[in-house]
Amino acid sequence: MDETRFGNIVFVPGTGGGRYPFCNSLYIDDQKKAIIDPASDETFLRKLADERRVDLIINSHYHEDHIAFNYLFPEAELYVHEDIGACFKSYSAFLDYCGLLDSQYKAEWDDLFLNRFHFRERAPSLEFADGDVLIFGDTKMRVIHTPGHTAGHCSFYFPDQGILFMGDLDLSRFGPWYGDRVSDIDETIQSMHRLLEIPADIYITSHETGIIRGDITELAETYLTVITTRGKRILEFLERPRTADEIVERWIIFRREFQPRYFFEFAERGMIMKHLERLIRNGKVETKEGKFHLTSAPDEI
Ligand SMILES: [Zn+2]
Repeated sequence: MDETRFGNIVFVPGTGGGRYPFCNSLYIDDQKKAIIDPASDETFLRKLADERRVDLIINSHYHEDHIAFNYLFPEAELYVHEDIGACFKSYSAFLDYCGLLDSQYKAEWDDLFLNRFHFRERAPSLEFADGDVLIFGDTKMRVIHTPGHTAGHCSFYFPDQGILFMGDLDLSRFGPWYGDRVSDIDETIQSMHRLLEIPADIYITSHETGIIRGDITELAETYLTVITTRGKRILEFLERPRTADEIVERWIIFRREFQPRYFFEFAERGMIMKHLERLIRNGKVETKEGKFHLTSAPDEI
């Protein structure tokens, strides 16, 4: 595991290339020592915890693969965006924001979140808002609220170093993820565009590549095009009326069925429903007798 240091800002690569169930972390090694999304490398994080070198945890959002090792730092303060403070204070609010409050797989989700990802209810000591500037000593960081992936999802900009931490707007080949009850496709697109306006030199993503230098415009376009492609595939599949279950079974988002099924079906369904709601809003799809229909022939869309 090789950390990369940019002055006081340390990039900590996640285990397994920063792919789920891990993410990349940033450690701010200044007068006030902070870790952003401690779910990267257990050995590195345990060492920080043993040496009591974390005053502050900052979470970009509430997802389990970003908070998994928060519990190693019980004495640290916790800072999160004001729209999602509730998810940290209350496990049932967390499930509600995900859209899992009434899941028939409650036992499986509880085991995943509580045992495997160590979710612990914890009151944030600060709930920040867009534009807030946090000062750690020499290092300052501006909060950029970038909702869509989830409500309250945030990116963080370090103007003096030209570093932009993008969180789960991760430019991955899979494309954007928006499967929770509080996720939103249009907000995801707007948030990505907002990040493109920030004059950064170094971009940090929560997963996979991690550090990207230079212009990310093309990567961002490719990333957002995945949303369009998914929408097109749904419209093609609606050559005849289909139920939501039939569309989910098609695995248009994940391209094939993965295991465990309860986990991937939740995400597939969540994202498909966001697309269907958006296609209905845009007048391309309507519902009748429990099925989704095209409002016009596919080649006219
Ligand atoms: Zn996430």
